[in-house]
Amino acid sequence: MLRLFTLVLLMGTLLLAATSKQELDRAKKNLYSSSKSSQFKAYDTYKRYYIKALVNSDLKIQKRCLEGICIAGKKLRIDVDDYEKKLKKLKSQTKQKIVSVPKKRDVIKKEHLKQEHTSKTKNVKIRSQHALQDFHWQGSALVLSFDFDLRSKDVNFFKLKPTKKKGYRYVFDINALLLKKPKIFHKEIQRISISQYKQKKLRLVIESKKRLNMRFKRHGHDLEISMGISKVSAPKAKKIVRSHNYNKLIIIDPGHGGRDGGAVGYQRHLEKDIVLQVSKRLAKILKEDGYKVRMTRDRDKTLSLKYRTKFTRKNKPDLFISIHANSVPKKNAHKAKGIEIYYLDPKRGSQRSSRLERKENAADYNAMNSTITKLFSATQSRAKVIESNFLAIDMGQNVVTHLRDSNFKVKQAKVAGGNFWVLVGATSAAVLVEVGFVSHPKEVQLLINKKYQQSFAEGLADGVDQYFRNKARR
Ligand SMILES: [Zn+2]
Repeated sequence: MLRLFTLVLLMGTLLLAATSKQELDRAKKNLYSSSKSSQFKAYDTYKRYYIKALVNSDLKIQKRCLEGICIAGKKLRIDVDDYEKKLKKLKSQTKQKIVSVPKKRDVIKKEHLKQEHTSKTKNVKIRSQHALQDFHWQGSALVLSFDFDLRSKDVNFFKLKPTKKKGYRYVFDINALLLKKPKIFHKEIQRISISQYKQKKLRLVIESKKRLNMRFKRHGHDLEISMGISKVSAPKAKKIVRSHNYNKLIIIDPGHGGRDGGAVGYQRHLEKDIVLQVSKRLAKILKEDGYKVRMTRDRDKTLSLKYRTKFTRKNKPDLFISIHANSVPKKNAHKAKGIEIYYLDPKRGSQRSSRLERKENAADYNAMNSTITKLFSATQSRAKVIESNFLAIDMGQNVVTHLRDSNFKVKQAKVAGGNFWVLVGATSAAVLVEVGFVSHPKEVQLLINKKYQQSFAEGLADGVDQYFRNKARR
């Protein structure tokens, strides 16, 4: 049923690898052509490669694509504000990388010269001393106190690729000075180090053999970092302020169920079973992270699409995640594999996804033909489409990184827009995740593997976290 789709997909993947440079060069030509359709082609190419570059963390291509998107957007009168912001941010990031690390003496001098500092250095305002004052443990959270109000752009959090020697590494870059090096220990953490990384940036690195459930929030002068470790008993420990996650409701929708088995895979593994297992794992992790979670089904039960959309509309979630698995006919079983994440985009539903749309929309599709779906989804707000796009990218990136961290080989996650009826019900960001191909003899073995499922779910959860973190900054 998905034969054509798969072939196009496979050819697409092969072609992409071989001709990415040519395609981007062609996009550049199209961009400056006078024909609107050529400009649109360029826009499309840049967008596609941007997502690809995001997944591959290729900053150079990201920048090139963002520039293309912005130029094309202006010509075509498409709203590219978000991309412009991203480009600006990316440019400032790459600039920061070039700034040399100052000698310690310079840093200390700077504190005394703080008055002149503002006039000497452009763009950087040093308020008060702008320094780390103190730290303490509050239950199981590490709290760093500064002498100024932390803004979201003062804190940059990222993870480094885990290595055998150092394990997992979590890094916080904070715009502040380090006057005195604090000694921070926790019995469950290998190493917590803090240093003046750049002139106005201190770096906190937390190294751990096991994966930490890392969360952080700013309030006022404090940066509170919880790592999901045991509490440090302190006589005056204040009650931990609940993180922002606690008010967010996420609906997880395991596809199919009951009489509708979904895709039938290699050795008759069923889509409905695999997606329920992954969904349950995801629900558990998100709950542990403090989110409110509701599932459209938590057992093998037949659900109508109408029920799913009604359930979603009624609950008004902050996020909606539908989980599915893909398949192709036997003939192509060895060829089609990989992760795909779709966001609802009525305008940009590509031809590639339309076959899949038909398949995933099938349950109630007799009643609603594709024209109706498209009409319906056309009423969806652009904001929701953009938010869903961000969510899909964050999820794709995190799933790939996380699976790789867990030593599973994954190439990349494809992120694309599509018209999925089930996504129409959500009023907030909504995505449909195709965890992989149950028809692929090897991939299905991964999909039923508990460790793989867990790692996949953890990656999705990381994506959710990142999405909310980024959203708060937008
Ligand atoms: Zn499905």
